[in-house]
Amino acid sequence: MYFMGEPVFIVDTMLGRVARWLRMLGYDTLYYKRIDDWRILKIAEEENRIIITRDRSLCNRALKRKLRCILLEHDTIEERLAFIAYKVGIRLFIDLDRSRCPVCNGELVRVSKDKVVDKVPKRVLEKHEDFWVCRRCGKVYWLGMHWRGIEETLRKSRAILSKWKERGLRV
Ligand SMILES: [Zn+2]
Repeated sequence: MYFMGEPVFIVDTMLGRVARWLRMLGYDTLYYKRIDDWRILKIAEEENRIIITRDRSLCNRALKRKLRCILLEHDTIEERLAFIAYKVGIRLFIDLDRSRCPVCNGELVRVSKDKVVDKVPKRVLEKHEDFWVCRRCGKVYWLGMHWRGIEETLRKSRAILSKWKERGLRV
């Protein structure tokens, strides 16, 4: 199986954080807090999505149907993102012009400051010039106080990935 363009995902329940990260990184990612395994398999098949799960039996069922599945056995978000990058080559950099809304998977669009005047606190408006709005749910984003934490997580994740690429995954 091969993909035209960027990989798209469906993430199993309990992995909501992974789903939010994939969306921020710019990947079309479905996630439901509750969904039956058979529906995950059906959606993956119909929409050519890669399944991400911690459930080995779900992964085996997916592979039997010739679907792609990533079995996440690592526990930290840094390792999990690195593992997905190792398997399917996602980029571990955030570019908000390509990001999707972590809440709803909608596309973000960059807007001028005057479009968000009544939607963000005044102190944020004073400090920031760049804003993005979700086309679907309307949530506003900017490079705020969480940004350093996000960058730090991705920096660690990239370090893990390059270690695995150099020395092999099992070291
Ligand atoms: Zn949204």
